[in-house]
Amino acid sequence: MSLANRVAIITGAGSGIGRAASLKLSTQGMLVALVDYDVARGEETLRLVKEQEGNGIFIQADVSSSTEVQNYVANIKERYGRIDVFFNNAGVMGTLSPLADYSEETFDRIMAVNLKGAFLGLKYVIKVMEEQRSGVIINTASTAGVQSTPFLGGYSASKHGVVGLTKTAAAEYGPKGIRINAVCPGGVITNMTKDMDMSDPVQNGPLRRPSSPEEIANVVCFLASEEASYMNGSIVTVDGGLTA
Ligand code: NAD
Repeated sequence: MSLANRVAIITGAGSGIGRAASLKLSTQGMLVALVDYDVARGEETLRLVKEQEGNGIFIQADVSSSTEVQNYVANIKERYGRIDVFFNNAGVMGTLSPLADYSEETFDRIMAVNLKGAFLGLKYVIKVMEEQRSGVIINTASTAGVQSTPFLGGYSASKHGVVGLTKTAAAEYGPKGIRINAVCPGGVITNMTKDMDMSDPVQNGPLRRPSSPEEIANVVCFLASEEASYMNGSIVTVDGGLTA
């Protein structure tokens, strides 16, 4: 089974890892349904998809809104009839601060987007995949989801939560023909990290550099493909050896 003519949803498709994955899956011949709450960015990704002869649509939605998630899932199901791959990727990082000074508003927003957003995507996409008795889901966690991340307490908690959702969903839905895995990027050069110093070789780990979004997208594409047919519940670090 190749990915050609199959249907992928990518959230956070307007930038960074989501954009790179949209372009990569599109080059495999997938129909890509791009979801982002930023219209200008989402439409720019769709333009880039079309520029490389790909096919897809852009739907504006905030992944932290239950209604908006239900609407985009229903919309894509109606349009394409099925959902084969779901890249559950949209996320925000928030500002850096030690926990005792960490703002409650930042904590609530990060949880709403990164953790509840991941949950809502899983909840409504799995319903469709369950009927098909097939599908592949890749959640974007982070190295912050598997180790301490000083000054990013809320972000780290949200990503540990995504790891928990991934393992639980994999155990529940593996028997129904749905594979669910997570990628854990280390430092990636995207909009999210544009105000951070990403040049410290030690902080970057053994490969001594951050990754490009494309290096994460390549792994996402592999996990989506039949080449990864025995991978389920895996928490895949793509971090140049940082957590090793
Ligand atoms: P990015 O900021 O470049 O892109 C994120 C995209 O998600 C943006 O287009 C944004 O508009 C969209 N988005 C944010 N909140 C949304 C919402 N509520 N609803 C819909 N769309 C929303 O960031 P990125 O670096 O590409 O991050 C993608 C994922 O990778 C995130 O889950 C992030 O936590 C994770 N990640 C990033 C890094 C890194 O170093 N950049 C490392 C590990 C994990």
